[in-house]
Amino acid sequence: MNFCPQCGQALQERIIDGQPRKCCPAEGCGFVAWNNPTPVIAVLVEYEGKVLLARNAAWPEGLFSVITGYLEAGETPEECALRELGEELGLSGRIVATIGHYAFTQKNQLILAFHIEAEGEIKLNEELIEFRLVAKEKLKPWNFGTGLAVHDWLVSQGLPAELYPFQTSSLKTLESDLSGEEK
Ligand SMILES: [Zn+2]
Repeated sequence: MNFCPQCGQALQERIIDGQPRKCCPAEGCGFVAWNNPTPVIAVLVEYEGKVLLARNAAWPEGLFSVITGYLEAGETPEECALRELGEELGLSGRIVATIGHYAFTQKNQLILAFHIEAEGEIKLNEELIEFRLVAKEKLKPWNFGTGLAVHDWLVSQGLPAELYPFQTSSLKTLESDLSGEEK
């Protein structure tokens, strides 16, 4: 953000309580861009006994993750999780458990993760390009963001959950690991 959303002035950096903040210099305006993290809902979808991972249309080949979405105004995290399930996958389901919350500081997000058991016919929306159904035992949780929720969920299921160091170079490995899975 470079301009004040209240009055349009160019924002200037100031130190407030020891933190650099973008502030509006206009007299009587007082706008401060606090840059608080954005809540993101992550859904680990269990479908026919497997875990559904999907690839976003903007992601490189071989990169799959759990379903995520932004919390809407007036919505509870649980409502958001079920809405995303319907919008992105065309499925209905029930929340089995809250997995946990995860600070994703690299993206300035706070992830709230849920485990959902889903049913119905999978119909991806335009955000997603493909999906994989992965046996729980074959899940390899990545070491940041939603991967930490996948890790904790595996632990809760009594399954081995070694964190998988994620790098671009490992995408191909991840793909070959998953490619044997039923689509
Ligand atoms: Zn202003």
